[in-house]
Amino acid sequence: MRLSKYFLPVLKENPSDAAIVSHRLMLRAGMIRQAQSGIYSWLPMGFKVLRKLENIVHDEQIRAGHNPMLMPTMQSADLWRESGRYEDYGQEMLRVSDRHGRDMLFGPTNEELITDIFRNNVKSYKDLPMTLYQIQWKFRDEVRPRFGVMRGREFLMKDGYNFDVDKPSAMHAYNRHMVSYLRTYERMGMKAIPMRADSGPIGGDDTHEFLVLADTGESEVFYDSAILDLHLGDREVDYDNWDECAAIFKEWTTPYARTDETHDAAKFASVPIERQMTSRGIEVGQIFYFGTKYSESMNAKVSTPDDGDVPVHMGSHGIGVSRMIGAIIEASHDDKGIIWPEAVTPFGVGIVNLKQGDEEADAACEALYKSATALGLDPLYDDRNERAGGKFASMDLIGLPWRITVGPRGLKNGVVELTSRKTGVSEEMTPELAIEKLVKIYASV
Ligand code: ATP
Ligand code: MG
Repeated sequence: MRLSKYFLPVLKENPSDAAIVSHRLMLRAGMIRQAQSGIYSWLPMGFKVLRKLENIVHDEQIRAGHNPMLMPTMQSADLWRESGRYEDYGQEMLRVSDRHGRDMLFGPTNEELITDIFRNNVKSYKDLPMTLYQIQWKFRDEVRPRFGVMRGREFLMKDGYNFDVDKPSAMHAYNRHMVSYLRTYERMGMKAIPMRADSGPIGGDDTHEFLVLADTGESEVFYDSAILDLHLGDREVDYDNWDECAAIFKEWTTPYARTDETHDAAKFASVPIERQMTSRGIEVGQIFYFGTKYSESMNAKVSTPDDGDVPVHMGSHGIGVSRMIGAIIEASHDDKGIIWPEAVTPFGVGIVNLKQGDEEADAACEALYKSATALGLDPLYDDRNERAGGKFASMDLIGLPWRITVGPRGLKNGVVELTSRKTGVSEEMTPELAIEKLVKIYASV
């Protein structure tokens, strides 16, 4: 993409209404604009990052054997009356009625709708286990929308639902989700710690939240620092293997890690003192096992050979896809701007032409732009007629992990400069070598 043709409305000044850094930087970097309180438009660069996160989520869900689908945002109130949640959900639910006076709502989550689809189409234990998921906009009329996309009213969530014939099978689904979520966050370049949680309005006994550590997080968290050393890395996981998933679940849930809601001071005290950590965290996902809560109230049963018709065991699982962008920026920025992890960066490399209009510099940039594009590096070429200082400031603000700077002086010696956004370290090399280096770096992401 050429910056001269891209819609990237960067702001020089800090917006006064943004209280935390990710919100400020998303506004300043031209990623989002507020439409109404807690409701945002995603401008091209914000949208690009959102799509990248969605792709990672899809990849890892499909790898775990789950079925992608899409449900509508508008739902019928009658389904929610069946489960009893139409009344229970309270003011967070946005309720409307259509021209015929029928009650509808903008889905805050989808347990009822998915259970309805299931009961109308699945009748036998032979079709189980089954996990369905979607990535779809949700609406929750939060009392205090704030922090930009972190606590919005309209937000993008991956929500998944498992259907199993009995509890052991559903617990495998729970463990499998734990593993696939750990993988998903790692691939986004993030550390998200699973913590035992409270179940809230979804109900049920088994639930874990995933938290990204950040000073601006809304939850207070207590954890054993040993959990920070755990990595899945390239480990091959067989998602159909119950023991393997259970072992990974155990590995990640053995070190103490809880939010203030479930914190147990006595248990925490038994963690070696030098490993007892207290900080703040952002909830970027949650998994639940809630048994037959919805299948009983909504009559979702399957036939079994030994026990006749039984209500299915279910769980639900969510990743805050749009909130995740805020969390990534909270965890990865400096005073100049965002620092994108390579896995989710909107563009692979920024090309800065120090002297637009100089024949040699323009030609070198064009050649770099072409080869970087052809090799899949997805470059953003700053071809505007601006002074170098302004170009550098914009690049630092939008936070691409790598920048290639091209100027007449370097070109006399046949070199350009390759700069890492994270370390600030620059190296001179030929344009070919710079491209080769980047191709290698991105191949390993
Ligand atoms: P919170 O406690 O932060 O209100 P929640 O526990 O009600 O969230 P879940 O029902 O677990 O949310 O939804 C799954 C995920 O969706 C959350 O882990 C979070 O990442 C994201 N999410 C929930 N509410 C919002 C919101 N208002 N804005 C953005 N993302 C949200
Ligand atoms: Mg939650």
